[in-house]
Amino acid sequence: MQRCDVLLTGGTVIDGTGAATRRADVAIESGRILHIGDCSAIKADAVIDVTGQVVAPGFIDVHTHDDWALLATPDMAFKVTQGVTSVVAGNCGISAAPFSAKGDLPAPFDVIPGISEGRFDTVAGYAKAVTYTRPAVNVRLLAGHSSLRASVMGGDLERSASGSEIEAMRDALELALRQGAAGLSSGLDYPAALSAPMEEMVQLAGVLKGHERAVYTSHMRDESDTVIASVRETLETGQRSGARVVISHHKCAGKANFGKSVETLKLIDAARRDHEVALDVYPYVASSTSLIERFLPSADDIKVIWSTPHPEQDGRMLNDIAADWGVSREKATSMLQPAGAIYFDMDEGDLQRIMQHPAAMIGSDGLPGVDKPHPRLWGTFPRVLGRYVRELKLLELTQAIHKMTGLSAAQFGLNDRGVVREGYVADLVVFDPEQVADLADFDHPTRPSRGINHVMVNGALALTDGQQTTTRAGAFLT
Ligand SMILES: [Zn+2]
Repeated sequence: MQRCDVLLTGGTVIDGTGAATRRADVAIESGRILHIGDCSAIKADAVIDVTGQVVAPGFIDVHTHDDWALLATPDMAFKVTQGVTSVVAGNCGISAAPFSAKGDLPAPFDVIPGISEGRFDTVAGYAKAVTYTRPAVNVRLLAGHSSLRASVMGGDLERSASGSEIEAMRDALELALRQGAAGLSSGLDYPAALSAPMEEMVQLAGVLKGHERAVYTSHMRDESDTVIASVRETLETGQRSGARVVISHHKCAGKANFGKSVETLKLIDAARRDHEVALDVYPYVASSTSLIERFLPSADDIKVIWSTPHPEQDGRMLNDIAADWGVSREKATSMLQPAGAIYFDMDEGDLQRIMQHPAAMIGSDGLPGVDKPHPRLWGTFPRVLGRYVRELKLLELTQAIHKMTGLSAAQFGLNDRGVVREGYVADLVVFDPEQVADLADFDHPTRPSRGINHVMVNGALALTDGQQTTTRAGAFLT
């Protein structure tokens, strides 16, 4: 008789491709999916009855800043409890590798606590640290443009790079890709990269062409008043360099820009006729990043979540802080530096329109390492399944799962993950479709979600019966 390590019986399989649901048992052996369907002839070491529950590929969080959290808090509870089994790190231009810069750096480097401790010259060095630490989830790393810039240009980032500096960045990127990086990310909205012209990005993204499935992800130059010009620039960068493009956390921020997603998505659709373009989105109408004066006009309501010189103001609204201090919002912002904030700056209509786009993947953009983060860090995936699938019926369940798994794996070159298929790696989540929901909110941002019952990473149970285990089976993915 054939045997297996674990057998999931009685569940409804949603395979991640967007295909219809089907009732099937799933047998797992040596970290991979052995059989899907009638498994009565297979003897299992452990049987888990998952009747009434959905068996899906483990969720892939395509937009994270988890580079350092994977090493500092390897249990990764904020991801495992959502059903996430792999994260794409190094987004928005900031990556732990290749990153050889020393000293203090401008925003957005201050967004992630711990960044000054762990800077890795090479992707190989970072991969080694991940392998040694063994976090609970897998990681795929993007090489960040701002990290490359800081490595080559030092702290002098508020200018365009010279020809020789671009050459040095291209060499470093080429090495990063050879060592397993998924592609290049940029954060052109921030001081560390704002001065980089499109030409610099075209030159760098051109390196990706020689690497199968390498991708250029961009936190665009602007997501508010000139968001349309930014989408055009990003698409043109892709077309001119030949690189596939993912537009990061797509949004139209600021009241004056509500509704502009109609036009941005049209531009994306037009580009998609002859070039591969995708996007990611998180299911909230508030964003979160460094507290930066440039971003103030996009939101009336801004919550300060951390401030190095003024920790006593953590969790307070910027307007209240400014009023107490008798100063303008701009002055308060400068007095709080460095600081992080949540901006209530988006429209629900845009959010829903973007989420429904066929090329939109789910990515949390969560910022770990602070006491009161944006709730997206703990709630993104269950929120899509609870609020946008079950309650609002904005997406079909199979479609939502595809945006969290199969589509994401294809975009980031994860060849044997993201789909429940025989022979594929057993990264799986089992959840109750009637119960699944996010419980993290802006007042209680670190509450784990509900309805996620089992999570398997590389065939090992990271969470079972709703409780996280001590098993950490994550790996650096290439
Ligand atoms: Zn970003």
